[in-house]
Amino acid sequence: MHRAYNDANIFAKILRGEIPNDTVYEDDYVLAFRDINPQKQIHALIIPKGRYTDLTNFCDRASDNEIIGLMRAVPKVIDALGVDEMGYRIISNIGEDGQQEVPHLHLHILGGEVVGPLVS
Ligand code: 5GP
Repeated sequence: MHRAYNDANIFAKILRGEIPNDTVYEDDYVLAFRDINPQKQIHALIIPKGRYTDLTNFCDRASDNEIIGLMRAVPKVIDALGVDEMGYRIISNIGEDGQQEVPHLHLHILGGEVVGPLVS
């Protein structure tokens, strides 16, 4: 299903520099920053710079370079966060049942402590 992209979403505003963020890593394809309401000791978000609502939408519509760009950024962000050795979890919420709040694709990275059960 195709969800229309809304340029007023909070991550679009962050990408446009209208709202400050605590940047962890940035390159041509992605921005990674700390979550404003961390659920674990380390909680960051990686977002593509393109206008994609969620992972399905991104995998369907993004260019190969954008997809490679996001995937190649993951280890760089993990390195910047220092969670590689102890491990971490990546989650992407999609749509209503996934309880996605911000309709711009983001990968949550959670770590810095035992993350706990997959779902609560
Ligand atoms: P979702 O529920 O859409 O998967 O997650 C959205 C995440 O964005 C939440 O963890 C929330 O705390 C985070 N968030 C919402 N607004 C802001 C913001 O203005 N700045 C930052 N850094 N994170 C935000």
